[in-house]
Amino acid sequence: MALIVHKYGGTSMGSTERIRNVAKRVAKWARAGHQMVVVPSAMSGETNRLLGLAKELAPSQASSAYHRELDQLAATGEQASSALLAIALQSEGQPSVSYTGWQVPVRTNSSYTKARIESIDDQRVRADLDAGRVVIVTGFQGIDEGGNITTLGRGGSDTSAVAIAAAMKAAECLIYTDVDGVYTTDPRVVPEARRLGTLSFEEMLEMASLGSKVLQIRSVEFAGKYKVPLRVLSSFTPWDIDINEEAKSGTLITFEEDEQMEKAVVSGIAFTRDEAKISVLGVPDTPGIAHQILGTVADANIDVDVIIQNVGKEGKTDFSFTVNRGDYQRTIELLKTQVVPKMGAEEVLGDDKIAKVSIVGIGMRSHAGVASKMFRALSEEGINIKMISTSEIKTSVVIDDKYVELAVRALHKAFGLDQPAA
Ligand code: ADP
Ligand code: ASP
Ligand code: MG
Repeated sequence: MALIVHKYGGTSMGSTERIRNVAKRVAKWARAGHQMVVVPSAMSGETNRLLGLAKELAPSQASSAYHRELDQLAATGEQASSALLAIALQSEGQPSVSYTGWQVPVRTNSSYTKARIESIDDQRVRADLDAGRVVIVTGFQGIDEGGNITTLGRGGSDTSAVAIAAAMKAAECLIYTDVDGVYTTDPRVVPEARRLGTLSFEEMLEMASLGSKVLQIRSVEFAGKYKVPLRVLSSFTPWDIDINEEAKSGTLITFEEDEQMEKAVVSGIAFTRDEAKISVLGVPDTPGIAHQILGTVADANIDVDVIIQNVGKEGKTDFSFTVNRGDYQRTIELLKTQVVPKMGAEEVLGDDKIAKVSIVGIGMRSHAGVASKMFRALSEEGINIKMISTSEIKTSVVIDDKYVELAVRALHKAFGLDQPAA
């Protein structure tokens, strides 16, 4: 008998019929003798619907008070789906109880809309498990020190599930979703994408941070920190398939580089359209300019990603970086009002129609020429690279938004990801 955590995403919880299917699957696991904690997302579309309503009524200046209410509101999506799942389990004859994050409690910091989990009190959950109940804990949310409801950022139910699995030392955390595992790239964009049987934790971390939304990045961070065995699998298989077969399906995130694990140099391709590029032109080429520009941006709590400083010429240089598209306007305004006048730069230019495409693979550590192969594949498609950034196990390029799909397909082919692994 083991303690197992299941997480079901929005599509998997998308209708009463699907919730019934989830309940039947969970009841099967409980009947097999496992202690079950289940973390559901809101029914698909619900979080967007709620946030859309808030947007209609939003004040012109977003404040912390407003963000507090966004969390208070958005958290209800998971409260509803969790209670519905508990009801569906009860009607399967399986005793079950649901709790919101604050009832557990899942304690977080106070960063509304992107709170971080600090601790989880598992006493109440354990008492129910010991009494033979399946325990359902809402995904995506917790409570801060002041008793305010917080949420963990979009896609945050993954993180709730892994954090609960870590806190309770679960034997495994199974992330059930609308695809049957982690693929070489988003299978909705590249039909030739292949499911990976295993993927190293480090690669998954890069894939998630570079835009593969199949797992929220923080869930992967948690899994790494607490060594939570993590598997991504489909909620759309028939609920009554053999449990042993189900337990081996999907993609396992591994912590050791086992042998068969990918002789492939590149394991996957991630991309994100959620990017914007900003350039400050004609900046005096003196010590401290990076700090002046990026320090101001950082002080406004804006995350900066790829950074380029050009070679100086006649005492001036150009400085470019990328931010999330959502922070684009704010960053431009900040630079125009606070940075340009102070440092005497010439101009601020921006482009919010860019995207970032990345190749990821631990094999890149020991292979030269991977990046140049990437650049060649893109040039053969006539795709212009605007920025490049590399680390040990990934290379990212910033390109025009309109070429993302073409680029991902070309790279998928160039690195042989269409072919079954040798
Ligand atoms: P859930 O609601 O279950 O959390 P998400 O929509 O958040 O599901 O994540 C699953 C989606 O992630 C898939 O439908 C797929 O389109 C997308 N995705 C992006 N990259 C990948 C990848 N490399 N492998 C699998 N799915 C991916
Ligand atoms: N319901 C939340 C969202 O849509 C959290 C999640 O689904 O993981 O972002
Ligand atoms: Mg998700």
